[in-house]
Parts: sequence; C-alpha cells; structure tokens
Amino acid sequence: MTLVVQKFGGTSVADPERLRRVAARVQRHVAAGERVAVVVSAMAGHTNQLVAWVDELGGSTADRAEYDVVVASGEQVTSGLLAVALQAIGVKARSFMGWQVPVATDTAHGKARIASIEREAILAALDRGEVAVVPGFQGVTAEGRITTLGRGGSDTSAVALAAALGAARCDIFTDVDGVYTTDPRIVPRARKLERITFEEMLEMASLGAKVLQTRSVALAMQYGVPVQVLSSFEDKPGTFVVADDLMMEDQLVSGITYSRDEAKVTLIGVRDQPGVAAAIFGPLAQANVNVDMIVQSVSPDGARTDLTFTVTEADLARAHDVLAPIAAELGCERVDADKDVVKVSVVGVGMRSHAGVAHQMFRVLADKGINIRAISTSEIKISVLIPEEYTELAIRALHTAYGLDAED
Ligand code: ASP
Ligand code: MG
Repeated sequence: MTLVVQKFGGTSVADPERLRRVAARVQRHVAAGERVAVVVSAMAGHTNQLVAWVDELGGSTADRAEYDVVVASGEQVTSGLLAVALQAIGVKARSFMGWQVPVATDTAHGKARIASIEREAILAALDRGEVAVVPGFQGVTAEGRITTLGRGGSDTSAVALAAALGAARCDIFTDVDGVYTTDPRIVPRARKLERITFEEMLEMASLGAKVLQTRSVALAMQYGVPVQVLSSFEDKPGTFVVADDLMMEDQLVSGITYSRDEAKVTLIGVRDQPGVAAAIFGPLAQANVNVDMIVQSVSPDGARTDLTFTVTEADLARAHDVLAPIAAELGCERVDADKDVVKVSVVGVGMRSHAGVAHQMFRVLADKGINIRAISTSEIKISVLIPEEYTELAIRALHTAYGLDAED
C-alpha cells in the first residue's frame, strides 16, 4: 500500500467547514487504498495572533522557549480537530504531538532544526489502519522542551516526515493550485508548471516565490522526496517538484521571480586596496546582516572605487549603523542607500547547457529603457536589481521573451 504524507496549510484548515473538507479529501485517499499521514498548520492567522500576544507581554526579550510553548499550540488545535473530523465520517484517526512522535530538534527556540524523526509510532498507527495526524511546525529538544521550526515551518515538517517514513509522495495542499511561471497577479498569462526541478524550486523559493518554505525544498532535494504542490479547494493535479532526470522537456527558463524586499547600499569613493572588502563585509556578517548581490566598479585611476551591495529592507538601518564608523576609516566619500529597488530573477536548469540566456535578459530590459544596477548569477539563475517602478514592465517583457506566456 502506498504511503503518502499530506500537508494542509493554514487557509485549508481555517475553520470547521474547511476541516470537514480536508477530512473528506483524506478519506478519498484512504478509500483508494493509500496509507496517509497528515501534517497540519495552524488555522490561518492563528499563529500571528499567538505571536502578537507573546510580544505584547514580553516584547523582544520574551523567553524564546516560552514563545515556542505558545506558538506551537495552534497546530495542536488543528491536529486534534482534524482527528475528530475524520472520526466523525468513520475514518480511524489519531493525533500525535511533536513530542509524541517524537520530532527531535536542536535547542534553537523559534528556529529549531530537525535532528531526527522516529517512525515507529506513526507506522504502528498506519498499520492499525489509522490516519496519523501530526502538527507541523513543532518539535521537542533532548531535554523535552517544545520547539518550533520558524515561520512557515510546517512545509519542512511534512517533507521531513515523508523522508523519515519513506513516503512515496509528499502532497502540499495550499490556496494556490501549483507553481506558476511567475506571479499571476502581475502576468495574467502566467502558466501553471506541470513539473519543476528541486533546484529550480529552491532558487524560486529563496528568490521570492512564496509557495514553499525554502528549507523544505532543500530537504526534499536532499532526500529525494517527490513533492506535489496542489490546491485543497479543487480536485486536480498540481505541480510536481522532482529530480532533474525526471524532467521531460528542456525548457530554457522555467520561472521568473521578484523580491521587493531589497535595499541597495553604495559606498562611494572607497580606497582601492587589499583588505577593503574584508573590512566592510566582516563587520556586516558579525552584525548578522545578510548581504546578497555585490558589485565593485573598476576604478579609473586605481585609487578609488565604488562598492554596491544589497541587503533586505529590514537590515538596512543596521547595515547603515555598522558602516558609518568604518566608512570614515576607509576614506569613503559618501554612503548612499536606496529602498526603491527590486530584484528580478530568471530561473531554469536549461541555462546550464544553453548560452545567451543572460544576454537575452539584458537585451529585453535595455529595449524597455530599464537600467540595471547590479547583477548576480548562479548556474541556473540570473538576477538583476532594477528600480522598483519597473517591476511589472520588466516581468511582463521577460515572461513574453522567454516564451512563457500561456496560449489562448
Ligand atoms: N503556523 C506556522 C506559521 O504560521 C507554521 C506554518 O503554517 O507553516 O508560520
Ligand atoms: Mg506556508
């Protein structure tokens, strides 16, 4: 009998009526002869509410271990409720809290990492013909304290459980019906992808596509867990996230993503000598500021140069504080900051074996009169930083140029 893990996100379990629909969906899989372990999120909005209560009483210094006790409770509620809803329609089911599985994690409260998942208890339940319902997002330390995996962590719980159980598939039910070539709100002709590779999905998730938590994709890739992203509101196949060798066609570009959460910092007139980059990026790293794109211009006179890099908007103020004293020491004329930028990326494993993808991107943007402020690349993606006002124009033009538009 095929064993599958099915994960239902917050909007899919938002109220009793939707939980009833989830139960009916699970029942169909059980009736079709599958053994099902379900992972649930908290009801939509519930985790935000719990976080707000902790903030209200403890502020930013609130004990992280107690934060976890509070925010993990949302998933406890939906696990119990789904078991009740399943039993109500005659499906044998029981819930297992993270500590009962157990899902063992490290002690990094609020952003814990899974160390191991015991499969015995869950397998025994499935062998008894029960559906096992497991709360996502939560785990337990070796000392027995409750942990959570970071916001959006239920995806990671589901994939990790699927890996531990050796599941044939991990279905991620959500409020969209799959992974699209780009944001359909920007490009109405965006297409749903039938398949996407783990690597492409990993790039897309970390570059701004919000369907799956990035960590869950990395885990799926590591353990080779086939993942399907599909709608919990419609009964049709979604997008399969699979290994490279399972891809049928060789599409050059699979998707275009964007992130508005970017800020650009430019140090003007920095001395051009060994050790300058280290003097800038060392302290930023120490202050936990994540730097993404970096561009250093050639210095015309060999004496001074400009250095540009990007950080998230939330980190901009901190980056500025860290840089102020250093900039003076490096003889830098001025530090400029700009929040009105967006990072647009094209992603596709096809780039590996085809030249000209980058050129095409630059050509399209040039034709629209869009100036590129910074560029970064990996083997399967090209990202450019452009003024935020051109976001829609750039994405639409690129979507058409790479042949991604849906046909009528
Ligand atoms: N409930 C948690 C959150 O809202 C985990 C999840 O839904 O994935 O972040
Ligand atoms: Mg989510």
